Formats: sequence, C-alpha cells, structure tokens
Amino acid sequence: KMLGNLGENLTNTMKKLAGMTVIDKKTIKEVVREIQRALIQSDVNIKLVQSLSKKIEERAIEEKPPKGITPREHVITIIYEEMVQLLGSEAVDLNIDQKPFKILFLGLQGSGKTTTIGKLCKYLQKKGFSPAIVCTDTWRPAAYEQLKQLTEEMQISLYGDPNNKDALDLAKKGLKEFKNQKVIIFDTAGRHKEESDLLKEMKELDEVINPTESILVIDGTIGQQAGAQAKAFSEATEIGSIIISKLDGTAKGGGALSAVAETGAPIKFIGTGERIDDFEAFNPERFISRLLGMGDIKSLVEKAEEVVDEDVATETMNAMLSGKFTLKDMKNQFDMMNKMGPMQQIMNMIPGMGAKIPKEASKMTEDKIVIYKIMMSSMTNKEMENPKIIKHSRIARIARGAGVEESEVKDLLKYYNNTKKAMKGIGRRGMGGGAMNRLM
Ligand code: GDP
Repeated sequence: KMLGNLGENLTNTMKKLAGMTVIDKKTIKEVVREIQRALIQSDVNIKLVQSLSKKIEERAIEEKPPKGITPREHVITIIYEEMVQLLGSEAVDLNIDQKPFKILFLGLQGSGKTTTIGKLCKYLQKKGFSPAIVCTDTWRPAAYEQLKQLTEEMQISLYGDPNNKDALDLAKKGLKEFKNQKVIIFDTAGRHKEESDLLKEMKELDEVINPTESILVIDGTIGQQAGAQAKAFSEATEIGSIIISKLDGTAKGGGALSAVAETGAPIKFIGTGERIDDFEAFNPERFISRLLGMGDIKSLVEKAEEVVDEDVATETMNAMLSGKFTLKDMKNQFDMMNKMGPMQQIMNMIPGMGAKIPKEASKMTEDKIVIYKIMMSSMTNKEMENPKIIKHSRIARIARGAGVEESEVKDLLKYYNNTKKAMKGIGRRGMGGGAMNRLM
C-alpha cells in the first residue's frame, strides 16, 4: 500500500467531491479540510499544507471554470494541479549523456542504499547500459560482500578491496580500473563515528571522483526530516538526483516527497518495496493521479477536450485499419495514450473495436513513448507523412537532432512498420478472433 492511508484518504475525498451536486464555498472548504488532514497525517509540513490549501481555496472560489467543464470538475483539476506542484511538478529523467558517466552514490546506513544500487543497475541494464560499481565503503565490513553478492547475480563488474581502508584510494583505483566503462557507480559509506566525518569524506570523494551526477538515497519513512537530510548532503556535493526509498507502506512518504521537492533537488526515482523491481522513475503527475485515484474519476479533465480526442481517436483508428497509417497517426496514437491511458482503453472507446489490440502497441512503455516522440519531433512533415523516404542520411540527421543513437531511430521505424502491418491485418480480416491470434 503506497504511502499508508494517504492514497486511500485522498481518493475517498475526490470521490466524494465527484459526487457533490452543489459546489460552493462551504463544500470547497470541507474538501480542502479533508485534504489538509490527510496530508498532515502523512507528515507534510504544516506550512506547506497551509499554503497549498489557501491556493486551492482561492483558485476554486475565484477562477471561473473554462467552457465545457463543470465547477466540480474544475475544482478537481485545481486540486490535482496544486498537488502536482507540491511535488515539484516536472518529471526529471536520469540522462546518461556522456562517457564516462560517474555516479557518486550517497545515503545514510539503512536508507536502502545497497538495495537501491541494485535496483538502479537493473533499471540501467534494461536501458542497455552495463554499469560497473566501485565500493568505497571502508566503514561497514560487510559492504563489499553485500555488493559482491549483488553484482555476481546481476553480472556487473565490481571493484573493491576489503583490506584497503582508504576510501579515496579505492575511488582512484576504481576510476583506473573502469576507465573504459560508460557508467560507473561509486558506492560510499553510510556511517562514520560522527556525521561531520561522513560528510567530510563525501566532499573528498566528490573532489577525487568529480562525479557527473551525485545521487542521494533517502529513507521515505523519516517523513519531512528528508528535507534536512537532502540539505546536509548537498553541502558535501551538488546533489543531482534523489531517490526516496521505502515508500511502500509508510504513512510519512508524503512528508518526505514534499520536503525534498521543496529543497529543489529533483526526485528522479522512488523505491516501493524490497524486491529489485520495486523501483520506478518518479513522475509527479502520474504519482498524484494515482494518489487521487484519478483513474477512477471519469471524465475528469475538460469534456470539450475529450470530444476532440474522440474524433482524433476515430480518425486515427480509421487510418490504421485502412492501412494508411503514417508516423503522424502514430504520434496521435501516442498522444492519446498519454492523455487517456493505454491503447486498450482507447480502443474500447471506439465502436466496433473489440477488446483486442496488437501486441506491439500493448507492450509500449511510457519511457519509450517519450523517446519516440522526441525522435518524431526531429522529423520533417514530409517524413512524418511518408515514412518510406526515411533512409540513411535522414536517419542520421534525425538521430543527431534528437540526441539519440541511429539504432534508436531504426527501432522506432521498425515499431512503426510492425504496427502498420498489424493494423492492416485487422482491417483486412475484420476483428474476428481467429485473425487476431496470428498477431498475439
Ligand atoms: P543500506 O544500509 O543503506 O545499504 O541499506 P540496505 O540496502 O541494506 O537496506 C536496508 C533495509 O531496507 C533492507 O532490509 C532492505 O530490504 C530495505 N529496503 C530498501 N529499500 C526498500 C524499499 O523501497 N521498501 C522496503 N519496504 N524496504 C526497503
């Protein structure tokens, strides 16, 4: 259960709001009070809660709902927007954009640092990187052993020496050892006799390693204390990303997230359990939607917009089925997926399109969509409408423009061609189950 009862409480409040027939000052205040209570229980700083409620109340009372949305939907949208703001609003990616990409990995003992290194490595491996790890933790005797076990399972290179008690020396030797690697992760001590000694060592490591990015792991169960911890570490090194661990089950996660967001350090990932896959890129919009149970609240954003979406959806579907499926149509498809969720749901909106979708579309991940969209934005109109003309030199140009490898552009084109083929198949054979089996 994510963030203890916070999600449940907020979802209930939103459901209640969605069911209200009259929206006036009194009901707005009532809803805001419920949100306040839920956030304070989750250890969100009182001042933050107060300013949030004030903003929601003011906007809900003063702003006129845009055409096509009801006052109730308007209030829901305002709550959503302000809550997203509380978490820093923008999703920030970990962008491995240079070689070597040196990561200084920090965190207090027990924060989940070692577990999180494993999770991050798995995440990076999925993206095609093979990270190497340097153990500079000379403080905890078992640190090297724990990493050794982890890395052997994952087939990751590890440098360390349990007999060497000089963290800086280990870092230097690790740098040499892995000088040809693209991603190097430096694990550090999580404890010293004095906290100031720990921070001093981190500062020295920062100087020796000159990290491309420092990543700090913070235990989400400490609540708003996370803000002070982020600040303390940022005195030793510039913190490029924060990972909040243990957000599963803790009631205080809301406090941790909002306090860190307030320091301005980007939260790039969250840990949601003990297993290696319990890890996700942090996206404030998606996170808040989930917390508010937005998936369940139908016709949330502007109705007017939805009607437009339905038209675009129908048009795109028709293009798909007729085999006239261009990259433009595919981009529309992605936009719809962003706004309305998975392809499955969109297909359900269209009369006659049963419950089945091609495998290619259903296994599309959000991360991939983002990259695909960046590549498509580097294409010309002509290329989007007639993808056949995209050959060698154009592929190179698109890759340069989007800052990706040429193989990724080819991957996009392959996905496009497969989708097109699959769609054509459905169009020709109709939606009968037999025809679909070939595709699934
Ligand atoms: P380190 O001392 O910072 O290296 O911490 P460890 O990686 O050894 O983790 C400390 C404990 O926290 C272990 O029992 C982990 O299983 C647990 N842990 C780490 N991340 C998470 C998480 O996201 N959720 C939960 N529930 N437990 C976690």
